[in-house]
Amino acid sequence: MSSQNDVPSRCNRTWLEIDLDALNYNLQQINTLLPKNHTLIATVKANAYGHGDHCIAYTLQQSGVHFFAVSNLDEAIGLRRCGICGEILVLGYTQPDDAPLLAGYDIIQTIYASDCAKAFSQVCQEHNITIRAHLKLDTGMGRIGFLYDDPNLLMQIKETSTLPGISVEGIFTHLSSADMSDAESNVYTNLQLQRFSNTVHTLRENGVPVNFAHIQNSAGILRRLSPEFEGSRAGIILYGMYPSDETEHSIPLKALMSWKAVISCVKEVPAGHSISYGRHFTSERPTRIATIPVGYADGYPRILSGKGYCLVNGVKCPILGNICMDQMMLDISAVPQAAPGDIVTIMGQENNISITAEVLAQQSNTINYEITCNPSRRVPRVYLQNRKIIATENDALICADYAAAELRTNTQIL
Ligand SMILES: *Cc1c(COP(=O)(O)O)cnc(C)c1O
Repeated sequence: MSSQNDVPSRCNRTWLEIDLDALNYNLQQINTLLPKNHTLIATVKANAYGHGDHCIAYTLQQSGVHFFAVSNLDEAIGLRRCGICGEILVLGYTQPDDAPLLAGYDIIQTIYASDCAKAFSQVCQEHNITIRAHLKLDTGMGRIGFLYDDPNLLMQIKETSTLPGISVEGIFTHLSSADMSDAESNVYTNLQLQRFSNTVHTLRENGVPVNFAHIQNSAGILRRLSPEFEGSRAGIILYGMYPSDETEHSIPLKALMSWKAVISCVKEVPAGHSISYGRHFTSERPTRIATIPVGYADGYPRILSGKGYCLVNGVKCPILGNICMDQMMLDISAVPQAAPGDIVTIMGQENNISITAEVLAQQSNTINYEITCNPSRRVPRVYLQNRKIIATENDALICADYAAAELRTNTQIL
């Protein structure tokens, strides 16, 4: 447990507040869309979409989630070392030489091509180990995966599933357009579902042990698309965001992330004073300026220079001039009482005004996914329950089950 004295020092410049009550709320909502005995795979890749994967996964584990998906082996080992004892699936590339780590930490690897399967098998035989695998099909995403309509698919997969050192347990595919609602996208999504369904049935009829099949992402879950398979991979909806505006908002969700900073400097500049690099803003009248110690190196989109705004005392204050690496300037003429040390909301809600990830995404011509992934390592995450800070990232609190994770692994935690 963190000492209370450590906590305020984390929030001295800029920080993210992550609402764990909202996480549990979203989890409950998602569960209402899934059939009984269906496995929810919590997608916590990319540091849990920027929210901090240790505390997010740990909280989900406490709430009954026992299957996690990450993008790579480092993320997977990080979860094991902070006490995650459920299943962990690596969705992307792992170098075959790391098979001993996969086996040692009991992590499931995605196998998406014959050559990668053979390379893993070879390393496993050299070390006399077996790794667990889920097969990935490409049903139309065009990314990684065995091509669903390869004339040799059945042969390739049969061969893969009998390779020494590889234990095939599951199969999955990924939808490319489930978050789009136009007619053409709907047809394509149905086509992908059909291709997956047909392939899984064929493989099962031929004795390939793909007992655990999963296809849905957040958009598929929200749309209740064919829940007949064993699992679903929820990502963005866990964090309280919808995959797109178009996706059916079939359950209410609460955003987890707020981004705060303190005012570092306040001053009144006269008319005709230019602000920031390149002098893209020059005051037309005496203007009250607040500097905040956040810039693009913290992950705030530089493209919002002269476009974005923050909340100070519940008032929208525009960003003036170019955003710098470590600082940016706000026009606080509308809040003359604001002073150095006051807290500014960069993302989140104050009074009834909110700056959502969606607002920032729209202003910076990207998607909400990228906005929450952006805050960099130097922005500490703090975790709230009942509006109180209960943990900071990498806190001892979330390492409480260290021993449990160690039990699960075959080798000692490094
Ligand atoms: C990221 C990802 C997901 C989760 O996507 P969301 O849209 O956030 O639900 C699921 N499956 C795979 C393979 C992914 O890469």
